[in-house]
Amino acid sequence: MPNVDVLVVGAGPAGSVAAWHAKQAAPELDVVLLERDRAVGAPVRCAEGVGDAGLREFANPDRADWTSRRITSVIFQAPDDTEVALADCGLGWILDRTRFDAYLAAQAAATGAAVLVGAEATAMTRNGDGRWHVRVMERGNETVYQARVVVGADGVETMVGRWAGLDTRVPSRDMESCAQYVLQGIDFDPDAIYLQFSDAIAPGGYAWIFPKAVGVANVGLGLVALKTDGRNARQYLDAWIARRFPNGARTGYTVGGVIVHTTIKQPYADGVMIAGDAAHMINPLSGGGINNAMKAGRLAGCTAAAAIRERDTSERRLSAYHKAWMDLLGEDHLKYYRIKQALEHMDDAFYNSLARTVNGIAPDKRTIGRVFTHALIRHPQLIPVAARFFV
Ligand SMILES: Cc1cc2nc3c(=O)[nH]c(=O)nc-3n(C[C@H](O)[C@H](O)[C@H](O)COP(=O)(O)OP(=O)(O)OC[C@H]3O[C@@H](n4cnc5c(N)ncnc54)[C@H](O)[C@@H]3O)c2cc1C
Repeated sequence: MPNVDVLVVGAGPAGSVAAWHAKQAAPELDVVLLERDRAVGAPVRCAEGVGDAGLREFANPDRADWTSRRITSVIFQAPDDTEVALADCGLGWILDRTRFDAYLAAQAAATGAAVLVGAEATAMTRNGDGRWHVRVMERGNETVYQARVVVGADGVETMVGRWAGLDTRVPSRDMESCAQYVLQGIDFDPDAIYLQFSDAIAPGGYAWIFPKAVGVANVGLGLVALKTDGRNARQYLDAWIARRFPNGARTGYTVGGVIVHTTIKQPYADGVMIAGDAAHMINPLSGGGINNAMKAGRLAGCTAAAAIRERDTSERRLSAYHKAWMDLLGEDHLKYYRIKQALEHMDDAFYNSLARTVNGIAPDKRTIGRVFTHALIRHPQLIPVAARFFV
């Protein structure tokens, strides 16, 4: 029975960064990172967009081989296709996640963590010796690992959280179903990302175009099943693409779930922390979770290392992880979630008229602050939405 200090389940951004930072913070510890798929980073279930500042906390994108595209503008599209380009949205990147996730796992390996691919955690129980016993299937063989701390970074379908008795349920109104194609041979600005909001196109969510190269993009949408007319995400996407890009070649397809909720109440228990999508640490307004997952992974890895050194991996000790997360981003997500709820009451006619108001501002002056002020003056129904940020 292998005996390890930190066992990380799942080599997405949260898990790889957790293993990397645990080992970096306490090199004497045995850290093992498990990935059930045969390759870290594949298959890709993501539109791959990230903000520059958050990314740079972990990796330098300049001249990296794991980016596809540098993004310099954001274009919002109203339901009637009116376009609104914002002037100060900052820099972003479209990653190549097959390479990026592998890069992060390689960082973990470089610090001395063991990375096992094709290794799936299948069950976990707490033993009298204060360690978790984790069953792992690897190439048809089962091994039981004993671990002082388990980090569950196993994504939206987390089992580690459930095995540890944590409440990871998601209200169905906060679960978005997503479908996405890689489309080739289409016409759009390759330096911009496009976001289109409309109940007819993507009820409860939005549709996106994220450029991978000139003429090539991740084109997808996310929706809330409760709000649809009975069609699934792929059917909505097919209808949108038939209108927008009838001649685009579909060279890739993926589906996946995004939890647009707030961080679970308790992402820790004796000897366990869960991080990233597993703990619902996604921005509930944008659905973005890559940078969040890395930040959560860093907190979980550092907390695990410090707790083991102090010989205290109790629930009480690990609650410091949750507190640090809430201070860093979790409290902001509560505010974004309230805004999301308030925006749910706006219809397509509102968004069309908002787009026209914003386009009344000169393009170079169309900063988020100005847009917000104009929108509040011209559309007083937005005042309760703004107020939600402060209550
Ligand atoms: C269609 C779609 C588009 C998206 N677009 C964006 C975007 O543009 N920008 C953005 O920031 N976010 C986006 N997201 C969200 C983003 O993909 C996630 O927030 C991010 O990947 C979370 O990282 P994670 O490490 O928590 O989980 P994941 O990346 O899901 O990694 C979890 C890993 O755990 C492994 N695993 C699971 N169970 C086990 C087990 N029992 N044993 C071993 N391994 C296991 C899985 O194979 C997986 O590799 C999108 C999501 C979807 C579905």
